[in-house]
Amino acid sequence: MALERTFVILKPDALQRGLIGKVISRFEERGLKIVADKMGRMEKRMCDEHYSHLKDKQFFTRLVSFMTSAPVIYMVLEGAEAVEMLRGMCGATNARKAAVGTIRGDFALSTQCNIIHASDSKETAEKEVARFFSKEEIFEWVPSFEKFIYADDEK
Ligand code: UDP
Ligand code: MG
Repeated sequence: MALERTFVILKPDALQRGLIGKVISRFEERGLKIVADKMGRMEKRMCDEHYSHLKDKQFFTRLVSFMTSAPVIYMVLEGAEAVEMLRGMCGATNARKAAVGTIRGDFALSTQCNIIHASDSKETAEKEVARFFSKEEIFEWVPSFEKFIYADDEK
């Protein structure tokens, strides 16, 4: 089993509500490895690309204005089956329906303002990592405690 990379955006509501630290703590506490992390402001052009699957939805314009309303945090996280695992940690898109214990289920009440984006498949993750980060911005490192996170054949 190989370690996988997934792409995360901590959305404007996470920053505005002072929840960045709490969300990142969850990644660290679970044992996920942070391999890239930066702050930025999403441009409309980037939203059009990132949310192209939603461009015909009636809520698209308000989604773009929300995503461009304040800076965001972009991250790449690495772990065994990280893509699926992160989606599980996020919970349902509609935060009111997200299970308690998930990030959306614990911190949000909205379908739009739901704190976090995480890639929905390995293919999407590869595209999204490459869209938002250059190779030089992604760091390879080995956590000193890795042998207590995974058995040898799990990574
Ligand atoms: N969204 C929204 N209204 C909807 C569905 C989605 O405002 O009815 C927003 C919400 O912020 C969501 C994002 O669009 O996280 C992307 O939607 P997607 O269906 O890809 O959900 P996700 O993968 O984020 O769970
Ligand atoms: Mg999605």
